[in-house]
This record gives sequence, structure tokens and C-alpha cells, in this order.
Amino acid sequence: MKRNDIFVKALCSLLVICGLFLSGCKQNNKDHNMATKDDFMREAIALSIENVKNGGGPFGAVIVKDGEIIARGVNRVTASNDPTAHAEVSAIREAAGKLGRFNLSGCEIYTSCEPCPMCLGAIYWARLDKMYYANTKTDAKDIGFDDSFIYDELELKPADRKLPSETLLRNEAIKAFEMWNIKADKIEY
Ligand SMILES: [Zn+2]
Repeated sequence: MKRNDIFVKALCSLLVICGLFLSGCKQNNKDHNMATKDDFMREAIALSIENVKNGGGPFGAVIVKDGEIIARGVNRVTASNDPTAHAEVSAIREAAGKLGRFNLSGCEIYTSCEPCPMCLGAIYWARLDKMYYANTKTDAKDIGFDDSFIYDELELKPADRKLPSETLLRNEAIKAFEMWNIKADKIEY
């Protein structure tokens, strides 16, 4: 074997070894940087703390897809005069807008507090894969955010609830349902 050939062969081997070493480092780095469930929850908690400083309610939420946060939400009820602007609903709106779809399957939500019935309903409607929460609804009740009465109301028949309600014009309203039922090109959700 010529001297040049040996040199080239040695150089090639060295390059292969370097390549393997670098890709190993990259893999290690990737594993090392992978955010954990605790990291995502800490972000939701940080949002809730930041929101208190900004004059909002003590609630934050993030939505995660493929190991990355794609949406964040905080409670802006008083700031935006919107009773539905809870952290979870805000995060769901942002995630759906970003992904351009109303079905958030493949995503998970981390919320700093166990959701109220509205947000829990929104989480189901959004088809989120999983929910994580930190504070419990009892913790929320202890500081004046009592949504347990709504949970209690849901158990009751409409006539027994605190919210007075009555049915009206069902025979007229049913027309929209009949139209929907026979519509061939509807987008079901
Ligand atoms: Zn809520």
C-alpha cells in the first residue's frame, strides 16, 4: 500500500470517528434538553404567578404537542371583561388557531389548577389527549374561587338548579336539527 493511500485511509477513519462522536453528542444534547412534564407544569405555574402580578387571576395553562409548548393561556376575566377568558379556554383558542384545526388530539394540557366545569367541557370538546393539573379545586375554593357549586348544579335536574330555566319553542328550534341531520356535507365534530 502506498504511503498516500495509508494517509487517506487514516484520514477517512478519523472523519468517521469524529462524525460518530458528534452525532452522539447531538443525541445526548437532545435527550438532555427534552422538557419533562414538570417543566411544562412549571411554565403553567409561572404564567399563573406572572398573571397575579399583572392584575389577573392566579391561573395559567399551556398546551403541549410533540414535546413542545404550542400555546399559553392566563386568566383574563377581569382584564378583558370576558367571563369565559379562563386560562385553559385561552390556551385552547390559541392552540387551535395556531394549528388551524378545532380538534386538538395529539396535544396535552397542563393547567396550574384543576379546571372549572366550563374549562373541563372545553378540554373534552377540544379532544385533548390528557390533562395535568397542579392546584386542586379545593385549593381554589379556599381562596374564593368556588366552582364546586357549578359541579353540584350539574348533578341536579334543571328545575332544581339555582339557575331558573324553562323550555320555549322547541318545535321551531328542532328545524335546525332536522336540517343538520340530513345535511350530506356537514363537518362533524
Ligand atoms: Zn375555567
